[in-house]
Amino acid sequence: MNKKSHWTPEQLTIIRESQRRIQREKIKTPEYQAKIKTYRHVNRTKIADSQKKKNLSLRQKVIEFFGAKCMNPKCLVPNGCSDIRCLQIDHIQMCGQKDRIPIPSLYIHILNNKITAKQEYQLLCANCNWIKRHEKNENKGCIKKSIKNRSIMEFYQMKVKN
Ligand SMILES: [Zn+2]
Repeated sequence: MNKKSHWTPEQLTIIRESQRRIQREKIKTPEYQAKIKTYRHVNRTKIADSQKKKNLSLRQKVIEFFGAKCMNPKCLVPNGCSDIRCLQIDHIQMCGQKDRIPIPSLYIHILNNKITAKQEYQLLCANCNWIKRHEKNENKGCIKKSIKNRSIMEFYQMKVKN
């Protein structure tokens, strides 16, 4: 049975805010930071698994948002490939390594900007994505852009070194 609180909502807000402030200060102390570090080290497998699960669930949501199948009308798979393992998010007006948002931030970005996301991104199967890259020279464009400010000699020297 719930005992009715004798605090007014305003008082409760003040109490909670004060508790949060204390907690925030506590986290900053070196002892607490050391505790966090130890916890993360001891539970690293558990944390990695939970992150993996979270990323998979985000990926699932994004794929469903785009209709869960390849959006290319000329997809080689009849009715569009819907195998989740080969579906990829494609930046429609790609070129730019610098514009590329790393995963899982990209998933969050898409889910938070659902209105503009469909103009910026599409869901393609791996085949259609590579065909698009090849036809639009997207890979070459990116390399060209990245060496734009270097001399050609510098670029080749860099290639030899690597
Ligand atoms: Zn396709």
